[in-house]
Amino acid sequence: MSLYFDNNATSILANEAQKALQSLSLEPLNPSSRHRYGQKARSMLEAARCKVAQNLQAKPKELLWTSGATEGINLAIRTLARVKSKSKEGVHEVLLCPCEHSATLETANYLKDKGWKTRFLKGADQGRYTIETISEQIRPETQMLVLMAANNETGVLQPIDQLSEFIQKTHPHIDLVVDAVAAYTKTPLVFYPGVKAMIFSGHKFHALQGAGFVLMRGLDEIPPFLFGGGQEHGVRCGTVNLPGVLSLEAAVELFEKDPKSAEMQLLRDLFEEKIQTSIPGVFLNTRKEERVSNTSNLYFEGIDGEALLVALERRGLYASMGSACSSGMHQSSHVLRAMGYSLERIQGSIRFSLSRYTTKQEVEQATAILSEEVKNQRNTFFAL
Ligand code: PLP
Repeated sequence: MSLYFDNNATSILANEAQKALQSLSLEPLNPSSRHRYGQKARSMLEAARCKVAQNLQAKPKELLWTSGATEGINLAIRTLARVKSKSKEGVHEVLLCPCEHSATLETANYLKDKGWKTRFLKGADQGRYTIETISEQIRPETQMLVLMAANNETGVLQPIDQLSEFIQKTHPHIDLVVDAVAAYTKTPLVFYPGVKAMIFSGHKFHALQGAGFVLMRGLDEIPPFLFGGGQEHGVRCGTVNLPGVLSLEAAVELFEKDPKSAEMQLLRDLFEEKIQTSIPGVFLNTRKEERVSNTSNLYFEGIDGEALLVALERRGLYASMGSACSSGMHQSSHVLRAMGYSLERIQGSIRFSLSRYTTKQEVEQATAILSEEVKNQRNTFFAL
C-alpha cells in the first residue's frame, strides 16, 4: 500500500498523458524538419500551444515550451533583466519574496553579478502580502517584482490578480514575474494583463517531468536565452520536447474537463480536521483561508519531523518537510523561517500535498497512521 501525499514534489503521470505518448508511435517527429513528418510534428506542437495558452487566457504567441520551471524561471528573470539593463541606465533592482523557490532565489542572486540590486519583500502576514504592503516597498529603481502565485511548501496564495492590476495602473515599467507552479490547477488562474511572465511545470500536474512552459508578453523583444536554431521565437532554441508537450496538452485537457480542485480542497480539509481532532498539539502553519486546494503544512508539537517522516514511510505514507530540493539537503525550510517560525517549530513541521487522484479512503488511512505514529513518537520521547 502506498499513500502518496507529496504531490507538490512531483505527481504521477495521468493516464490521458500516457495515452497521448503512446499515440506518438515510432515516427521521427521533429517540429523543425520541413518534410511530412516535420509538418505533422509542427501541427501537433502548435495545436498543443493553442490549447494550453487558451486555458490560461493567453495568446499562443506568448507561450514558450521549456524543460520545466527551473529553466522557465531562469529564462524569464535573466532575459527580462538583460532587456532592462540595456534599455535603461542607472541602478536596477529586483524586489522579491523571500519564500520563493530556490530557482528564483538563486537566479536573483546571479543578477547581483550583473550589477543588479536584490531586495526581499517584508511585511507578509502569515506568508501573504497585501497590495499596500508591496506598494510601500517599491522604489524608483525597482525594475522587476517576483512573487509566486502560491507557495509550494505552505500553499499560501498571493493576490496576483490585484497585484497585476496595481502594477499595470501605477508601475507599468515594472516587470512582474510570477512562478505559477504550485498554483496552477489548484486555484483559478489566468495570465493576468499586468503580469510580464508566468512560469509552469508539467510534472506538478500529471504531465511528464522535463516539460514546462513560460507565458511571456513582448516575446519579440526578448534576447535568446539558449542560442541555436531559432526555435521558440529564437528565445529558447533547441528541438522542442514533443512528447513532453503532448503530455502537457493532455494534462491541461484533463484539468479542463474535470478540474477536481473543489474535491481536493474538501479532502484536504477533512485530512486536517481528522488530524486535529485525533491528536492534540497539531497546528496549521498558515491561515486556513487563502491557500491552494491541495496543500497542508502542519506543525506537530514535540515531534522531530525527520523521524516522523521515516516512521510514516515505513507504514507506506509519503510526505515531506518542504520542497524536494531543500528537503533532500536536510536544510530547514527557508519558507517557514521567513514566516518567522522558531527552529523547533520548523523541525516539527510537515507538508502534505494531495492530488486529483487522492481518495477519501486514502485520507482516512493516512490520518489513522499519522495519529498512531505521532502518539508513538511522543511516547518514546517522554519515555527517554
Ligand atoms: N517553482 C516551484 C514553486 C516549485 O515547486 C518547483 C519544483 O519543486 C519549481 C519552481 C521548479 O520546477 P521544476 O521541477 O520543473 O524545475
